[in-house]
Amino acid sequence: SWLTLPNPAEIPVEICAGPDVPIESAAIDELLTVLDTAATLRALARAGTDPDVEPRIDRVVCTPDFHKGAGIPIGTVLRTVGALIPQAVGNDINCGMRVEATSLTVDQVRPHLDRLERQLRHLFFEGGRRIGLTAGQREGLLREGLPGLLADGVPAGAVGAWRQVGPDDLADPGGRLHAAGYPVASAAGFRDWITSGGGTSYDSIIGSIGGGNHFAELQYVSVIHDGPTAYAWGLAPGRVVLMVHSGSLSLGHQANATGQDQARAAWPRGVPMPRNRILPILLDERSAPGRERYLTALANAANFAIGNRFFLALMMRAGLAGVAGELRSQLVYDAPHNLLWPGADGVVVHRKGATPAGGVGDGEAVPGNLWGEPVIVPGSMGAPSYLLRGQGNPRALGSACHGAGRSIPRGVAARGSEAELDAFLREFRVVTPLDQRDPAVAVRRDIIDAWRRDLKQEAPWAYKEVGPVVESLRRADVAQPVAELRPLLTVKG
Ligand code: 5GP
Ligand code: MN
Ligand code: MN
Repeated sequence: SWLTLPNPAEIPVEICAGPDVPIESAAIDELLTVLDTAATLRALARAGTDPDVEPRIDRVVCTPDFHKGAGIPIGTVLRTVGALIPQAVGNDINCGMRVEATSLTVDQVRPHLDRLERQLRHLFFEGGRRIGLTAGQREGLLREGLPGLLADGVPAGAVGAWRQVGPDDLADPGGRLHAAGYPVASAAGFRDWITSGGGTSYDSIIGSIGGGNHFAELQYVSVIHDGPTAYAWGLAPGRVVLMVHSGSLSLGHQANATGQDQARAAWPRGVPMPRNRILPILLDERSAPGRERYLTALANAANFAIGNRFFLALMMRAGLAGVAGELRSQLVYDAPHNLLWPGADGVVVHRKGATPAGGVGDGEAVPGNLWGEPVIVPGSMGAPSYLLRGQGNPRALGSACHGAGRSIPRGVAARGSEAELDAFLREFRVVTPLDQRDPAVAVRRDIIDAWRRDLKQEAPWAYKEVGPVVESLRRADVAQPVAELRPLLTVKG
């Protein structure tokens, strides 16, 4: 279940594979190109001012959902020493998954799905979300994430999604809400970045799902694989669960552009731009100001993403409360899969489309962590998803896949007729911005058509089957299954 990839750069590259999970050869080719960055790092060091640092790519892991990305494959964990690589984080900084266990059961919710669908459409797409942030909340969120957002409690006269904030959300703000141990960068340069465009529009975008494969899904626990862990996480058979997949929307893209700009600005004269176009930033003195700027933008975007997932979950709670009455909802985990984690001694772990999978007692990830870090592995629209507990496997760099992963690249002609798409959307209760069945929806046909083409690329047949992917994590001692979840309804941005 582990393959070691020989390469001219002699970097340890481990691939976690399973018997029924194909490895994309194009992704391997892409990864081999990434390894050329070892030479870039040596050239940068030679031109540098700090001869003691020996920047290098230390180790690479490919997860079972490894597939070709833009420049660096999705499902790549890259550990460096003495340098960081903005492109190894992915464009949508802190794209991630949030899972909450509600107090409702599938039997309480299933009879109300038609009404719930209408409520959610209103909340998500017809102006129902109404998330006004004060200047203090806005800044608190970007600086510190949820603890900053919730520092002053729930706004008086809370409306819309805000009304769903519960005591659990306010409790222990330093602990579970910072679930996956997000790096918090210095706040220097914060204002600069915000006023230079980063913050101009986010008040109106917060609470957006984002397009493509981002989603807010209502699921229920269909199978328990590990009773004690499931119990500890608030999961029981039939329990309704919320799963949110979203990132930092435009903020991440801006932060990434900042990273590229800063790398270019610190680039020494005489070192040619690398053919693979991957631009690292050294952890040396000369790069310090630009690096701080980038890390600040990265942390701000990452914090925004946590807040965005939080509001998306609140909107799901609000919809549920509207049809099923009062409910409680408890965070199981919020896990980033596009992020970097600077550590001691110049070590940086980058995960692009890979999720942390620490073991029992590992790090600060989960205080009092007795079961392993929760690992969220969604399947695809209409398909089951899994929750696992991480094992902190060093061979995997304590990382797992973040989904089943695509089997057919985006852009390959979408299969299936229009009628099949409609049948699919109905069968799996996919809630979309437009009521596809309403002939009165007054939107230009070409917009609808383009949007439907995109949606077809998200059908289950475009993704791998999640079962074999989870099985390869289990066999490789990366993470063990805790519960299987089945979808009731999926909101797609
Ligand atoms: P990413 O965009 O972060 O690379 O992919 C996230 C993963 O989410 C995909 O690999 C896929 O397995 C999964 N996924 C995509 N769309 C859906 C959906 O609508 N519902 C669920 N449960 N999973 C999905
Ligand atoms: Mn994602
Ligand atoms: Mn994303």
